[in-house]
Amino acid sequence: MEHKRSAGTAAWSGVRGGHTVAEGEVMIQKGLQDPKVKFLREQLEKAGCKITDNFFKSVRCDTPMSGFFCPKSNGGIQVCANNLRFQDEVTQVLIHELIHAYDQCRAKNMDWGNRTHRACTEIRASHLSGDCHFLRELLRGNFKIIGHEQACVKRRVVNSMTGTNTNCSKIAATIAMEVVWDTCYNDTAPFDKAP
Ligand SMILES: [Zn+2]
Repeated sequence: MEHKRSAGTAAWSGVRGGHTVAEGEVMIQKGLQDPKVKFLREQLEKAGCKITDNFFKSVRCDTPMSGFFCPKSNGGIQVCANNLRFQDEVTQVLIHELIHAYDQCRAKNMDWGNRTHRACTEIRASHLSGDCHFLRELLRGNFKIIGHEQACVKRRVVNSMTGTNTNCSKIAATIAMEVVWDTCYNDTAPFDKAP
């Protein structure tokens, strides 16, 4: 759901090189042309959850998160323009949040307050969106190579679960994540395998 970029400060205004809300709208429109984004929207529609273009919104965020999915019926996906620099990042946020939308759509009884449900969808979203592809990790300055992808997914899941608007400790998040790790990491639906 929510994704912190780095430790926040009191008066957060965005990252250096971040974008305006209007620029973010243009980047979202470009991102909607991405084959993975298109595929996920098709799969959502097949699963009975049609997603229109106005499901996606560019917003300004006052915390260091990159985007979020609002699970309520008319929620939609919000992209934090002021925290994103590159088109590639915006597209990735769309993919990540669409995985959450897909999980909510297929599960019907998804409970976002349930740590296990939450851990599972965060594992899938970080794994399947390529949040942890090797080059991206290098750019973040994380150079550990062996097992880097899984370590990165784990770090991001715990970060997300302990973010704003959650009351989940790091230990509780880690335990919930480890319980469902194998099942959820290997669940690559709607992709045949991790793209
Ligand atoms: Zn997420």
